[in-house]
Amino acid sequence: MSKIDLTDAEKGALVGHLKKLVGSWWNGRRQRKSRVLFQPECKECGLRCASIEIIAPDALPVEWAAWPQDRREAFARYRVASSHCLLYEGPGGSNGRVGDPISPERAAAVLAAIANPIPETLKACGFYDGAGLCTECREFYCPDHWSISATGYGVCPRGHGKSLDPHWHP
Ligand SMILES: [Zn+2]
Ligand SMILES: [Zn+2]
Repeated sequence: MSKIDLTDAEKGALVGHLKKLVGSWWNGRRQRKSRVLFQPECKECGLRCASIEIIAPDALPVEWAAWPQDRREAFARYRVASSHCLLYEGPGGSNGRVGDPISPERAAAVLAAIANPIPETLKACGFYDGAGLCTECREFYCPDHWSISATGYGVCPRGHGKSLDPHWHP
């Protein structure tokens, strides 16, 4: 029986190759899971302009591991475990650190918008600031690029105006 002798460099290359194979298998698995978190980036500067997440009943947020301890404690205490939870942050404001319980119908509308983030699906979610989307350019912009005024009125870099009220309306 023949035995294969590998040099250390060859062993290293083989291990690297196996890691890549496992990595691409794992990424494929992750991508098949439907998305529950959507963080559009500003068309102009690439900064995140909103964060929309649907947390299923009894589930934890995607970025849970990165949350500070006090936020985790607040979420564990105040979230309604039997209900879907919406975590929203947009150019006009957020719904707080622990989000709001929402109906299954609203959760379905938000998940549809996450899967297909266009003006029509986002409008159906009732986000006051539309997550920073300009319905005319069909692009997302951050608060800076909306040039939001004190009254909450913003103008996108192409000159389209809309209200991005700084007060959150759930
Ligand atoms: Zn920007
Ligand atoms: Zn525009």
